[in-house]
Amino acid sequence: MTDAEPTPIITTELNPAQQEVLDLLGAAPDARPTFSPSLRDTLLADIEDGLRDLEPELDPADPLFVSKHALSTVHGCEARHVAERDIPFEWSVPLARGTVAHKAIELSIHWRGRPDPLQLVDESLARLAEGTDGLGDWLATCSDVERAEVRALANERVATFLECFPPIKASWIPVTEGRLRAEVLGGRVVFSGRTDLALGRADGSTARKVVIDLKTGSFSAAHLDDLRFYALIETLRLGTPPRLLASYYLDAGRAQPEAVTEGLLRAAAARAVDGARALHELSVGTRAPVARPGYTCRWCPALSTCQVGQVHLGRADDSSPFDAD
Ligand code: SF4
Repeated sequence: MTDAEPTPIITTELNPAQQEVLDLLGAAPDARPTFSPSLRDTLLADIEDGLRDLEPELDPADPLFVSKHALSTVHGCEARHVAERDIPFEWSVPLARGTVAHKAIELSIHWRGRPDPLQLVDESLARLAEGTDGLGDWLATCSDVERAEVRALANERVATFLECFPPIKASWIPVTEGRLRAEVLGGRVVFSGRTDLALGRADGSTARKVVIDLKTGSFSAAHLDDLRFYALIETLRLGTPPRLLASYYLDAGRAQPEAVTEGLLRAAAARAVDGARALHELSVGTRAPVARPGYTCRWCPALSTCQVGQVHLGRADDSSPFDAD
């Protein structure tokens, strides 16, 4: 991961899952692609050309924020996106679990000696409870049962991470919860994200960084799109893309890697343009949301009023307040 080591050297004996991660992270010098220094400007120009007609409707003082979640939902069912957008955000056990676990994983990377997962989780809970954001307030007021649930679930995630990943060395330049941001159309549109884990950094125009999203559950094509969006933002920021993207499925101890190419970045830019346009038009009400039913209808907050979803699940007759594709 560093200049001197295409494959990091580990003194601890690794289990096969850890060795697989190590093999994934390492790359021989001739396997590191070099990108054109003009790629950043080319991608930005393509994105701005695609959104140019919206420029008079957008205000840099109140920009359109485009996140991986917003892109994923608006490219899924627009009707669901609108329904969820209108629900006020509230912290909950599953949401707190992710943040607490990520903080604990961050601590594990910088911890002296062999870290104990539960100790890391407790330190993470203590740090986050001191925060002035909504999570600090939620942790201060949640019930003992909720706090115990967060602790148990985060512990499981951290323990699994430590089992699956090799000890991460500081020389790999690890960054957890790294914020990404790129401004488009003079700050009228902001692409933003936060990577779970990034290792390495670009060397001039040579790509070396690996961006990893930690996942529970099973593979979804949407996970590829999420990471491609991050690769796009990284390229708009730095000009040199990451070398590799990987969704890592902690339950299965398996990675889904994808090499970054110019074609991948161009596809991600086109998807971001289409998504940003849809997000803006749905926000200002210049288009009606399209209902796109699927297996997620059964968990949709709009299901009780969405006849497209009810018909899809075989629960109603075929008449809907939404347009369908
Ligand atoms: S029930 Fe299904 S089709 Fe209807 S809004 Fe929800 S996800 Fe979309």
